[in-house]
Amino acid sequence: MTADPSPANELGIYVCPVCKRLLRQEYGLLRCSICPTDYPIREGIPDFIVEELSRSADPVLHRMRFIDRMASIYETRLWYLVVMNLYGGFQSPSLAEIVRIMSQNIESANGCVIDIACGPGTYGRRVASSSKEIFGIDVSMGMLRQGAAYIAKAATPMHFARARVEALPFQDSLFDAALCCGSLHLFADTVTALREMARVMKPEAILSVFTFTAGRGGILQFRRVREWSRRRSGLHVFELSEMERHLAASGFKDFRPKVSGSVLTFSARKQAA
Ligand SMILES: [Zn+2]
Repeated sequence: MTADPSPANELGIYVCPVCKRLLRQEYGLLRCSICPTDYPIREGIPDFIVEELSRSADPVLHRMRFIDRMASIYETRLWYLVVMNLYGGFQSPSLAEIVRIMSQNIESANGCVIDIACGPGTYGRRVASSSKEIFGIDVSMGMLRQGAAYIAKAATPMHFARARVEALPFQDSLFDAALCCGSLHLFADTVTALREMARVMKPEAILSVFTFTAGRGGILQFRRVREWSRRRSGLHVFELSEMERHLAASGFKDFRPKVSGSVLTFSARKQAA
């Protein structure tokens, strides 16, 4: 792999995920002189987690340890169809349909967009444009490397960093919109995750989400499957009223849900300051 030609903090956008102060870029790392901590830049991708998923004592990170190896199949048509039809049912929207819904939701937002748990940039790089610069974060270096390889072939305005949703390496009120596709149900504490997303968004900025709900398709329509998934893999399958409560508790308003099978897409807006 060749070295990334663009220094990762060239835009001066990344801050320390702990103290939120701007990081100083030195060769191969971003340094917080307050904490003090060094965050390495690996193959052009700043790493704000540093530890290996397989060795992590954190149960949520440890559970994600297989995801690194899934990077190459994650976006294949077959994998996508199997997962979506199994969980969400045959009415599940296609990848292209979800991309279209996400694009429409954030259409009016020009500027910087954060893509939370971006994987290999599946959605982020498809909504990136000359007026939308995407900053993707994920816990999986394997996924991020795959994403960087996808965009290396095209001049896609997307950047990748390894970070957790609970400790985003960005200053307050930075982003004009936020995407969170296929991951809200995996976070340990939904409200904690949503609050941190709200923190980095501008007042009135749009949040656009694809997740699952207890709908009428796929295995997630069955209460026992939802309860089992929750116990076994920490999967939160949201009732609409529950999602609305979580959003209100995290500083969002204007919940606009759409349900197809057991797939939930929605937009919400950060409350004014
Ligand atoms: Zn710091």
